[in-house]
Parts: sequence; C-alpha cells; structure tokens
Amino acid sequence: MQRSPFVLNVADLLGSDASARSVRVESIVDWKLDLIELSGDEPIIADIVLHPVSGGVAATGSVSFVTNETCHRCLSPTTTQRSVSIGALFDRTSDDETYDLEGHDIDVEQMLRDEVLLSLPVVTTCGDACVGVVDSAQNDLNTDASGDGDESRSPFAVLKDLLEPED
Ligand SMILES: [Zn+2]
Repeated sequence: MQRSPFVLNVADLLGSDASARSVRVESIVDWKLDLIELSGDEPIIADIVLHPVSGGVAATGSVSFVTNETCHRCLSPTTTQRSVSIGALFDRTSDDETYDLEGHDIDVEQMLRDEVLLSLPVVTTCGDACVGVVDSAQNDLNTDASGDGDESRSPFAVLKDLLEPED
C-alpha cells in the first residue's frame, strides 16, 4: 500500500538534540463544503516547519490551494487561489486540542483539512464584477417556454411517466 503523502516521519525531531526542519507536502485532495471545494486539478501545497517541542512536534507554516466555488449571487463558477497559515501540535496525549503522534509518525492530513476548511468563506462571490442575482429575463433563456420548471412538476406526472410503457 502506498504511503500517504500526509504521513511524515519525525523520528529525527524526537531526540534530545533535534532541530527544526521544513518539509513540503503536495497532494490532490477532495475536501469540500456546500458551495466551495478544493480543486481536483491543483494540489494543495503545504510548506510546514516542524519544531521539536516537549512531548511532541509543533508544526507551523502555510498551505496554498485552489478552490472552485459557486457564486451565491449569480451562480457562476469561479476559481480562487488561497492560502492560510497553520499551527498545530502533535503529541501522544489524547487531548482534543492536539493531533496524534504515533510511533515516529505524524499524519498532517486532518490538521491541514481542519485549517483549510475553517479558512474558507461561508458565502462565496465571484468578485467585484459580479453581475448580481440572475433576473427572470435571463432565466427564461435557460428554461423551456412553458415556464414550468421541474420544481412545479406534479409528482403524479412523474408517476404517469413510470407507468406508461415506452413502445
Ligand atoms: Zn457572482
């Protein structure tokens, strides 16, 4: 089985004469919220500095990533380059505020996921040039002339389609 790119061996940081070192983690991820998701084409790039601390390892640095989102006003899809600074502690306690150090490894995936998803805006817009809420005239171009969208379709019409043989 391939080793996760997020699992880092930190054996060298656990000794008494350990010194901080930096590491870069790159991976495509599928993290997402309702209206915004991490790009499936661009990897996240985490530049992490690992510091030896009492009882574990501290991780600081930043992560840059690209998101695909839907503008909540005009519903157009947009892509945004973002970055967020990170800071976390890995140790052998079961403390909720720290992440786990297991053997000589830390898995930074959960930490990065937490930091990235927390940094995302709840409301997304496509920017200052947003044309705003799509008005009905534009809407009509995208729907059929009857004006009856799927939402207003009777459930009985669906049932009728199912019951009628297709021959
Ligand atoms: Zn917009």
